[in-house]
Amino acid sequence: MVVGLEVHVQLRTRTKAFCRCATSFGDPPNQNTCPVCLALPGALPVLNAKAVELATRASLALGCTVRERSVFARKNYFYPDLPKGYQISQFDKPLAEHGRVQLGSARRIGITRIHMEEDAGKSVHDRFRGATAIDLNRAGVPLIEIVSEPDLRSSTEAAAYLRAVREILVYADVSDCSMEEGSFRVDANVSARPHGAVELRTRTEIKNLNSFANVERALEIEFERHCKLHDAGGAVIQQTMLYDAGADAVRSARAKEESHDYRYFPDPDLPPLVLSNGFVDDVRASLPEFPEARRTRLIAQCGVSVADADALTADRALGAYFERVIALGADAPVVANWVLGELLAARNGGAGEAAFVAPDRLADLIGIVRDGLVSNTAAKTIYATMIIDPLSPRAIAERDGLNQVGDDTALRGWIEEVLAENPDEASRFIGGERRLQGVLIGLVMKKSGGRADPKKLSQLIGARAGR
Ligand code: ZN
Ligand code: MN
Repeated sequence: MVVGLEVHVQLRTRTKAFCRCATSFGDPPNQNTCPVCLALPGALPVLNAKAVELATRASLALGCTVRERSVFARKNYFYPDLPKGYQISQFDKPLAEHGRVQLGSARRIGITRIHMEEDAGKSVHDRFRGATAIDLNRAGVPLIEIVSEPDLRSSTEAAAYLRAVREILVYADVSDCSMEEGSFRVDANVSARPHGAVELRTRTEIKNLNSFANVERALEIEFERHCKLHDAGGAVIQQTMLYDAGADAVRSARAKEESHDYRYFPDPDLPPLVLSNGFVDDVRASLPEFPEARRTRLIAQCGVSVADADALTADRALGAYFERVIALGADAPVVANWVLGELLAARNGGAGEAAFVAPDRLADLIGIVRDGLVSNTAAKTIYATMIIDPLSPRAIAERDGLNQVGDDTALRGWIEEVLAENPDEASRFIGGERRLQGVLIGLVMKKSGGRADPKKLSQLIGARAGR
């Protein structure tokens, strides 16, 4: 299977690409329109600087070289939701080229180009009986189109590439990449060739896939169709396909256009976009550390496990919080346990943002566990209290009687009680059945309310067996 993907991403701007209309989602139809995006005669586009900045951010984040001079072009075609009769896009001089996305350590997927363009409006077929309505709120919303090289070799790999691209763009704050709201849309080009063949065969393009699952499914179905055609000695016809998720089928939509069908030419209303080195450098300097780099650093420098590093990079807030706690000197794998265990459970269990207790308080809590003042079990109780109580972990432990008990007399008292309550196990244990030690320790722990110092406890119980 040979796959290349085209991804349209809506940039996170307040206003449209060439006018001041709002880009907000879900407003009443045609509310966010003006002479420019309605294509009234004589209206002139003015490029949105924020859109240029975000498109540049995306390009650098995806490893592209940003062109000093790119050119807006008219892509001419007729469609009812395209009032100008052309889309403002970029053609032979796109904003950026030659990027890449790394998938794990082994696979590098090339990005051919990233260009800026505007979105079209929306045809609404289910609002009025027997008629199609047009909503132009989305007309002129700024997009980038990210075109990959035909480097992907399976449907799974295509989905992994899309996840990586989305993760990077969300990290870079370029877009919310919401597939539900249409701010991340995928067209997939697919072809089939025998193992070892180098030459590409005729491809088809599946349009507007709106979930990663649909991308995978549609690729599988279309690949299967190509294989059958090739095996039967037939030929694939280059065309545009649509995936119908309800019917789980891919059907032909129309013959594929070639780029000359669009009669591209430079838009005379827009001067070439010229970006200074200083501007591009400033954007580059403002980029955050990206997931792949952060993952590698967490594993190599902090000694965090691969699974924990994945979890900490998948959620930017968790990762940032984790780093603030380890900056205070706490042991990284222990902090990772806390953040991905108790904290995540509390956040998802209703505590919300309050689960992120001040980093120095969590570091303190980890410190008193390390120093043997409280047990791990007690620490979990203390953490739950910290979410709603501003006291220090030490003060909470004292007030709530959660300090670890390492006092021999108290520990011996609990041990004797447990032995007396379980005479059968007690005599077998004292008689040499050492494997019962764990059971008895558990019972003493329970009796102590989790406060018994586990090290001392096991010493004392061991001694009681006459070891
Ligand atoms: Zn407008
Ligand atoms: Mn496009």
